[in-house]
Amino acid sequence: WLRCRDISKQFGATKVLDHISLDIRKGEFLCLLGPSGCGKTTLLRIIAGLEQQDQGQILMGSRDISRLPPAERHYGIVFQSYALFPNLNVSDNIAFALRDSRQAKQRRVDELLDLIGLQGIQQRYPAQLSGGQQQRVALARALATAPSLLLLDEPLSALDAQVRDHLQAELRRLQEKLGVTTIMVTHDQDEAAALADTIAVMHQGRIVQSGTPEQIYLQPANRFVADFVGRCN
Ligand code: ATP
Repeated sequence: WLRCRDISKQFGATKVLDHISLDIRKGEFLCLLGPSGCGKTTLLRIIAGLEQQDQGQILMGSRDISRLPPAERHYGIVFQSYALFPNLNVSDNIAFALRDSRQAKQRRVDELLDLIGLQGIQQRYPAQLSGGQQQRVALARALATAPSLLLLDEPLSALDAQVRDHLQAELRRLQEKLGVTTIMVTHDQDEAAALADTIAVMHQGRIVQSGTPEQIYLQPANRFVADFVGRCN
């Protein structure tokens, strides 16, 4: 459903993405897994339209979205560090992209807070929330317009282990419930194994193996994949 075709990107003399092709089925949870600097975030930002590729195409269904501005690509995104608007309360953060009447916005905010298991915090400001709560609110905001694509850039990595495990399970439950096609960037192989239908392992700007967690763990395609997924955190 989402197809990246032959994407390349260079920053100055550094080739960051080297002819990447990737297919994601509708409703699939795909993890882009790899070490720091391999190009995961750049690929996600190109899919989001926050960065422009030098070469290649992105298709959503039959639509070529390669040159569309971010607002026309219809996705929700969550970043690693809490990117909530500090001067807006939880309700206004979640409703930020909604263009409905005040009552309709309020209904949608309540619905989303229900979905992510947070109630009674509508009037609080981001600084009054824990890290885990902030990431839940960021997730609610990303889902507010019912996007067909959810992009996650290490959304759990700033959280402590216990909160992270809890949110990991919730994220998967929510993704399945909504059936939203999801691409998550992570350098954590255990997280990828716990969440992904498909893991695409990246190394030096290329996808070196793509498959189910079982395939990646049991039949690593090369030494790099074997070492990377085999190492302990
Ligand atoms: P990390 O997990 O550390 O974010 P990553 O796999 O997501 O790593 P990218 O953030 O995509 O990797 O970065 C890939 C390479 O591109 C790195 O060498 C980085 O320094 C470089 N890079 C990323 N963005 C820019 C930019 N705007 N200008 C110049 N170089 C950049």
